This record gives sequence, structure tokens and C-alpha cells, in this order.
Amino acid sequence: MLINTVDKRTTNEPFFVPLSEITAYQPIALGILAALTPQNWDVELVDENFENFDNTDAELIGISAYSTSINRAIDISRKMQSLGKTVVLGGKHASLFPVESQQYFNSVVAGEAEPVWEKLISDYENNSLKSLYTGQQLPLTVSVRPRRDIFNKYNYAIATIQFSRGCVYNCSFCGVPVLYNHTYRQRNVDDVLEELKEIKQDYVFFVDDNIICKEEDHKTTIRQLFQRIYETRINKYYMLASSINIVDDEKLLYWCKKAGVKVLYIGFESEKIQSLRSVNKASNFVQAGDYYKKALKKIHKYKISVMAGFICGFDNDTKTDLQDRVNYMTESTIDSFTLTYITPLAHTNLYKYYEKQNRLMYLNFPEDWIYYNACNVTVKPLDEENKVSQELFYHHSVALVCSNILLKKFFKAIFRTKSFKTAFVLLVFESKMHVYLAGHWFVKLLIKR
Ligand code: SF4
Repeated sequence: MLINTVDKRTTNEPFFVPLSEITAYQPIALGILAALTPQNWDVELVDENFENFDNTDAELIGISAYSTSINRAIDISRKMQSLGKTVVLGGKHASLFPVESQQYFNSVVAGEAEPVWEKLISDYENNSLKSLYTGQQLPLTVSVRPRRDIFNKYNYAIATIQFSRGCVYNCSFCGVPVLYNHTYRQRNVDDVLEELKEIKQDYVFFVDDNIICKEEDHKTTIRQLFQRIYETRINKYYMLASSINIVDDEKLLYWCKKAGVKVLYIGFESEKIQSLRSVNKASNFVQAGDYYKKALKKIHKYKISVMAGFICGFDNDTKTDLQDRVNYMTESTIDSFTLTYITPLAHTNLYKYYEKQNRLMYLNFPEDWIYYNACNVTVKPLDEENKVSQELFYHHSVALVCSNILLKKFFKAIFRTKSFKTAFVLLVFESKMHVYLAGHWFVKLLIKR
């Protein structure tokens, strides 16, 4: 049994809605584990975006968890171990806290599972399971394709695939450089094309950390990927996570358009250079200001829409800055947006910075990881008078799901991308990320579909 855990307590109910079917991603790592499991084993997936895990006949349970869902994973582990089952933890939290995690699970997989999963299964069969397995990073050129049949149990609207892992940048709030130790690796293009052909959904999300890289040969391979998708006529719609400087590579934008890329998810974070500098958002602050406007224009020229992620609560953010950011989000030509509160994720430079200043508000771990979900204030402000409070953040989140803003952007996205489905996906993502208003029939209707 492989479980993708979701801790509903981290969704700030009643303000934030849990993931819904339409925005739940296929947990690709669990598909890879299923592919690595010997064929004489039956493998089943439980995705808590769709159903709460309760019990199972399975003897071996693998759980994937982020820090925000680690308490849910621990609850499941305690219950299953009391019933005599064996529980293994993998994923981001296990990789960041392998020693602590061993207290709560029979075994922990830190790092990448590919090199160690088969050994773990055979140790289990031989009654010699170890408490810790550490998977080194291997080149992705020989990668394992996920077993996609385990995803058929649920109605995932958007399929996921991965071409690269890691990011060449080093934003202080981001867990990616920490997790991959500042490395960046790519898969083989042919292998990705073969995998795309196995996907039945017509919307595919490349869940790479950042498709943009620095090395010339890596850049060439990315262009080749989208050129080959186009030439192979794999007719699907694609979403990519990218830094904004994708616009400096017009050839890539050209092939993205030809291949069917409809959405770029880009971390804008802030429209103010000093905020970007404060978190080392180098892909943005080098140029910022007018660069954003030009970047949006260039991306739209290729009929691709932009879903922009913004953050508030930077040390230099005041109440007025938050109002400015919200105005920017609603008035700019961005097609869809999310607003989160700055959060010091475990082991990041931002976490170390706040820890050194003794400003972290929640330190009773693992219980307090539920607060680190990007929707809570977790750090004491520098300027108590002018701080962006939790209430103010909620207030603006509510304002952002006002129907006329959503609808205006919805119709513009249809016009720009010539795709109703794309505009719909953007709208639901946007609504889901923001506030659930009791009585807000429009958002409710979309979420429930
Ligand atoms: S560019 Fe994106 S993925 Fe890369 S370090 Fe910054 S936030 Fe993380």
C-alpha cells in the first residue's frame, strides 16, 4: 500500500479548501516506487486528496509526506504499527529529517528511492529490514518510468511527468536547492516522449522544479524536448514550472508553443526589487520592474498563459506594500495568481536566518510543522506596527477571489490561449489556492464541480 498523505489540519479550515480532484496531482514518486516493486507484489495507491486512508490488508505500507503532512503520516504509522504492519516513510520530510523520522516509522528512505527500494523490499522479505536507507542521486539518463496503472483508481484531471530534477538557482525560501544539494539533472528526451505516449489525460503538468537552467547543453536539450513533442505529434496541453527568465530564450518559447504548452507557472514573488533581493530571487531581481511587463507580453505573444505565484510578509513588507502587491496582481496582465505568506521551510537559508534572529514562532516539532504551510504567519515581524498580520493576509486572500476579478481573467485567458480548458484549469487552481467563503456560491460550485 502506497499512501500520498494530506493533512487536512494544515489547510487553515474554514479559510482554505483542501485540494480537490481537479487540482490533485498524480503522486509520481509513488508511481516510480510501484514500478520498482517486484512483480509478485500487489501494489495499491491511496491518495488522500480523494479519500482518507483508514485501514488496509497490506502488510507493508509506504508513506510519502511533506513536512506539512508529517503529523498525518505519523498518525497513520502509529495506528498501522499497532496492528502489526510495517510502515516505511519516504519523500521530502524523510530526506530532511532521516534520524528523527526513525522514531515514528519502521524504516525511512532518505534521498532518492530508486537506488534503494528493491533492496528494501528484499530485506523486508528476508526479515532484515533496516531502519534507514539512503538513496544517492544517480544520473536521470537511465530513469524508471512510473507505473501509471496505479493512478487509474482516481479521476486525475491532470497527469504529471518529470523531465528534470533540481534547480540552478538558490532562493533562500526554497527547499529545492537544499533537497538536491544544488544539483540539476535531466532525463533522456526519447524516454520522456515514450512516457508521454502512455498518458491518457490530455492535460500534462511537467512537475520539474524549474525547467530553466544555465548550462548551454541543458538548454539545448530542453528546446529539443519540446521540438520533439511537436514533431512526434503528441497532441496534449502542457503546464510547466519555470522561472521568469524563460523569456530570454525565444527559441524555447517558440517550441513550447508549437508543442502545446498553455500554462507557465512562474514565481514572481514580488513586484519590488528589494523584496526579491532579500530572498535571493536572482532570476527576477536582476531585471524586475519593467522586465515583468515585457516578459508577460512576450509569453502572451506565444499564446501561453501565466500563473504567477506571489508571496507577502517579507521583512521589508508593510501593509501598504501588501495592498500594492494585490493591486499589481489584479491589474497586471497575469492570467492567474496565488498569494502565500512567506514561510521558512526546514533547512533553508531563510529558516537559518530567522532562527539566528530568534524569530521563529513555532518550534515544537514535529507537531508544529502544520503551521509551515505558506498560509500562516510563522515568524515574528520586525515592525510590529506595520506588519502584514494573519488577519490582513486573510482579508486580501478573500478579496482576490472576488468573482469579477476571476471572471475577467478567465475570459482573457480564453482569448489569449484559445483554450477554454486552460482558462478553466487556471480558474480552479486560483480559487482553490485562496479563500473559501461560506456562501460564495461561485467558488463552491467550481471546487465541487
Ligand atoms: S528558481 Fe524556483 S525552484 Fe529554483 S530555487 Fe528559486 S524558487 Fe526554488
